[in-house]
Amino acid sequence: MCAACGVWGSGPLCLGCRQSLQVAPDRITPAGVLARAAFRHEATARVLVHQLKYHGAVRNAALIAGAMASLLPVDTQTLVPLPRSTLRRMRYGVDPAVELANAVGRLTGLPVVLAYAPGLWWPSHAGSGARATVRFRTIRPVPTGAVLVDDVVTTGLTIDSAVHADGSHIIGALLATASAKIMNARDRHSDGH
Ligand SMILES: [Zn+2]
Repeated sequence: MCAACGVWGSGPLCLGCRQSLQVAPDRITPAGVLARAAFRHEATARVLVHQLKYHGAVRNAALIAGAMASLLPVDTQTLVPLPRSTLRRMRYGVDPAVELANAVGRLTGLPVVLAYAPGLWWPSHAGSGARATVRFRTIRPVPTGAVLVDDVVTTGLTIDSAVHADGSHIIGALLATASAKIMNARDRHSDGH
């Protein structure tokens, strides 16, 4: 059964859903981090991420991990997920960035290091167009050759918040999807971290 649309067939994704996956252009966050996403946050890719974030579809992480792994810098030594806020993790029962980092780690053999702890809660995409808010604190030093892992990049301010907490060894950021549009109120709700 297709993980995105539910149609019966062979393989985890049907042909139509596979063909809707669009390569996302690289982007640079305001703090200067190269952020590379496997797909544009549209169609099938958006559905897969949404189900991972809000419906516990952890198997979707493995469906996206191969495309993510191919974008890793050659000098990557560790994968460092950006944790979801504690209240959202409790509410939805899953931390999508950790699931994605573990899936990429299984494919590549790279270790996953939990270097950041989340704040209790923060507004979705708070501070869009403003400076990054403080969302993370470090619970151990960020190791050398670290690539940050998260589900969706929109403004890049979540990535930059981690950089501000401890960015000395971060060589890039790896995402499942990149959202290109200005977020409207509905998206801000449904796609918030
Ligand atoms: Zn499908």
